[in-house]
Amino acid sequence: MAETEGLTRIGGSSQTLKIVRRKTRSVRVGDLIIGSESHISTQSMCATKTQDIEATVRQIKLLQDHGADIIRVAIDSKRDVEALAEIRKQTSARLVVDLQESYKLAKSVAPYVQKIRYNPGHLYHHEKTVPVQEKVKYIVDVAREHDLALRIGVNFGSLDPALAEREEDPVDAALQSAREHIGYLEDLGFTNYVLSLKSSDPNDVMDINVRAAELFPLVPLHLGVTEAGMLPMGEIKSRIAFENLLVKGIGDTMRVSLTLPHAEKYKEIEVGKAIIADVYAGRFRSVPRFEQQGLNIISCPSCSRVENEAFVELAQKVREMTSEFSDRKLTIAVMGCRVNGPGETDDADLGLWCAPSHVNLKRKGELVGQFSYEEIVARLKHEIDLLSSSKEGIRAP
Ligand code: SF4
Repeated sequence: MAETEGLTRIGGSSQTLKIVRRKTRSVRVGDLIIGSESHISTQSMCATKTQDIEATVRQIKLLQDHGADIIRVAIDSKRDVEALAEIRKQTSARLVVDLQESYKLAKSVAPYVQKIRYNPGHLYHHEKTVPVQEKVKYIVDVAREHDLALRIGVNFGSLDPALAEREEDPVDAALQSAREHIGYLEDLGFTNYVLSLKSSDPNDVMDINVRAAELFPLVPLHLGVTEAGMLPMGEIKSRIAFENLLVKGIGDTMRVSLTLPHAEKYKEIEVGKAIIADVYAGRFRSVPRFEQQGLNIISCPSCSRVENEAFVELAQKVREMTSEFSDRKLTIAVMGCRVNGPGETDDADLGLWCAPSHVNLKRKGELVGQFSYEEIVARLKHEIDLLSSSKEGIRAP
């Protein structure tokens, strides 16, 4: 396939624009190639409990039926691995597992997947005496043995703590983390990997991927805006970042992260495919930069790790309750679990992250308290009122 995938027209003008895919290596994920020699693939993740095999297989099928090229499953325990082995028997989908702190799980999951994602920021928490480079070598050895692809998945909400402290700008810290881990893999002679650099801010996603495209020639890029939230805003944020990157030829695979009920998870694939099709047809529906005009709700797409099934409903209730505050310049984060909840709520004006029987509420990064699922929405409203009347106030646009 040629590097040039299509000709497009911008905004109805007569000027034609040639989209030239940035030249990247071919990374093999089972029988799929990620890279400029292939189509831009779309991915999603199961939101079901992995140990609920029936529900997870059903979710995989739903995503596959809508054209998902790769489907991610969360694995955190031995019992999750046992469930994965059973799921593997029931599906032919290309599966990817993301490792959190437990990097050694790589060996157990490898026979059942085509790809493993690891987060450099999560390799520092456990086994602190083992050098990170050694942990990466362990993962690479497993990937080699089982002919798997890897994704270095850098996330602004869970950066390597030392880098986050050293670098003032999270973009610099994230790029430095990527540079280090690309170095580890390349030193080991391992090239079957892709890189993702994700943030909940579409502008950060644009800026960092433009820089990564220059800094890391040939490395395929996986695009994603984390915690983009519910529709329609989740699609709008993803479109802003992806349209602006795809038109520059940047991006080899993508995931649109949306907070959706399980039965509607396929919309992540639908929206992703629609964005690609629109860009290549010259239809641009978003804007050059994301401008926060008023209320900004970020919420995670949920996954097997979600602490309470009420999470999606909670996110929807927060959106409904806050509709009267839509003109306030305020960021509210709603997160499903303790894995990314504490970090991703740090930068929000008000942040909620779910525990099994309560919701943690934070104001400007500080814990206000823990509230039941019944109390939390009213308490959040109270906090918005307090912030509105405080000296810091909430600037109306
Ligand atoms: S915050 Fe937790 S529940 Fe939400 S997507 Fe991330 S890992 Fe899954």
